[in-house]
Amino acid sequence: MRLKIVAANWKMNTRIEEGIILAQKINNFVETYPLEGKRIVLCVPFTHITEAIKVVNYKYISIGAQNCAQWEKGAYTGEVSAEMIASTGAHYVIIGHSERRKYFGESDEVLKNKVNISLKNALRPIFCVGETLEEREKSLQYKVVKAQIENALFHLDEDFLLKVVIAYEPVWAIGTGVNATPEQAQEMHAYIRNVISEKYSEYIADSITILYGGSCNSTNAKDLFSQKDVDGGLIGGASLKADEFIEIIKCL
Ligand code: PEP
Repeated sequence: MRLKIVAANWKMNTRIEEGIILAQKINNFVETYPLEGKRIVLCVPFTHITEAIKVVNYKYISIGAQNCAQWEKGAYTGEVSAEMIASTGAHYVIIGHSERRKYFGESDEVLKNKVNISLKNALRPIFCVGETLEEREKSLQYKVVKAQIENALFHLDEDFLLKVVIAYEPVWAIGTGVNATPEQAQEMHAYIRNVISEKYSEYIADSITILYGGSCNSTNAKDLFSQKDVDGGLIGGASLKADEFIEIIKCL
């Protein structure tokens, strides 16, 4: 049985007191809701991690970061290492979000280093892949996603790969209000499993949690999450309102 996850990506939003109230509201709901085989992950700003950890029940909710440095430690002013993140008690880290690829020029090689360093520090990477609109219009989505996975993940041995969560986030769906249809999501998730199966095994491909992300909300989450190969979602904008995020959790 694959672990099902609803993960929040708060991005660069909320002052700390707002973030803590949001985490508390989500925790209050989750404590009264059956979540066997399911997990909620809140990927909060670095500044919020240690306070957020104090207000959530780790049995149901994990705290994650949204990025980490590609280096272990040293003279990299402004960077935050995977070891530092792990030392807070966080368990997850988003790697390769399209905003990091676009605004910070993170290449597959950089992301490969970040994946390695996260795993070395017992952080589970939520590794994001996805094509741009231009690439989809040229029917390049499968080629693009395959290359992103091959370049940053396929050097891993099976045990480490099993710790990675993959998030399929078509760039054209992120923050646009236009989500992939359940059929488009299912097609890509099945394709990703097939790519993994060819390199590793069917068992490994079937064991990996693959999330969908991109304008997922309480209205479309049920249809998306009910697809055979969709194991939950990575939620941006809709994770910033407790009531909306709770409705999405109920769809898992
Ligand atoms: C994201 O940024 O990971 C995301 C899925 O954003 P949104 O839900 O706002 O499209």
